[in-house]
Order: sequence, then structure tokens, then C-alpha cells
Amino acid sequence: MTRKELNVFKKQLSTEKVLLLQGVSTKMKGSPKTGDPEGGDVCDIASSDRERELRLRLNERGREKLRAIEEALERIEDGSFGICEHCGAKIPKARLKVMPFTTSCVTCKSKEEKQRKLYEGTSDLALARDLGPDITREDED
Ligand SMILES: [Zn+2]
Repeated sequence: MTRKELNVFKKQLSTEKVLLLQGVSTKMKGSPKTGDPEGGDVCDIASSDRERELRLRLNERGREKLRAIEEALERIEDGSFGICEHCGAKIPKARLKVMPFTTSCVTCKSKEEKQRKLYEGTSDLALARDLGPDITREDED
């Protein structure tokens, strides 16, 4: 993968992270701000104190997602992004575009999910996170 392609993913992941934290931020306020309810907080969130505060307010699902995003960002930095952590195969770019935070190729992922189901019962969260583009969906809670 070229540096340029990595940067695209990096940007996508960073945006994803901001949106995630921004979602918490919006919930916290209870009512939309006057004017632009979406755009105002990006700079705000960039400050680490603010980010820490919002992070604490994430639900379990949000936290898991945030961790996945941050791990993906780390993998971009250390050069292991886009490589399956189980078998070392390259993860197809089409898959990464939908789920830039995935760490497994489709083959390993389906094996993993089968095993997880055997041991833990159905895990909707993991399944939803890795098998479908969950990114733009609103939280249901
Ligand atoms: Zn694999």
C-alpha cells in the first residue's frame, strides 16, 4: 500500500474518531446548539482534556469502536495496517475501505466468528462491527 493510500485511511479513521466523540458530545448537551449542530466541536474535541472527558462517557460499544479505530491508526504508523494479524495475508482494500479498523482477512474473520459463537454464544457486536458497514448507522440506544 502506498503512503498516499495509507493517508486516506488515516484521514478516514480520524474522522470516524471525531464523529464518535462528537456523538457523545451532542448527547451530553441534550439540545442542539444554535446554528450548526455538527461542525462546532471538532476543534474542541482535539484538545486532550475534552477528549478524555468524552471518552469516559462512551458506552461499551463506543469504547470498543474507539479502541479499534486507535489500534488501526497505530497500525498505519507501524506499517502493519492492512495485513491480517492471523495469517499475514493482505486484507483487500475494498474490505478496508468499508472497515478500516479490521485486523483480519475474511477467511480468518469467519473462522474467528465461528469459534466465538461456539464459546460465547452469538456476538452481535463483533459480527456487526466486522461484517457490515456499521459506520454511518446511528446508535440505537
Ligand atoms: Zn487471515
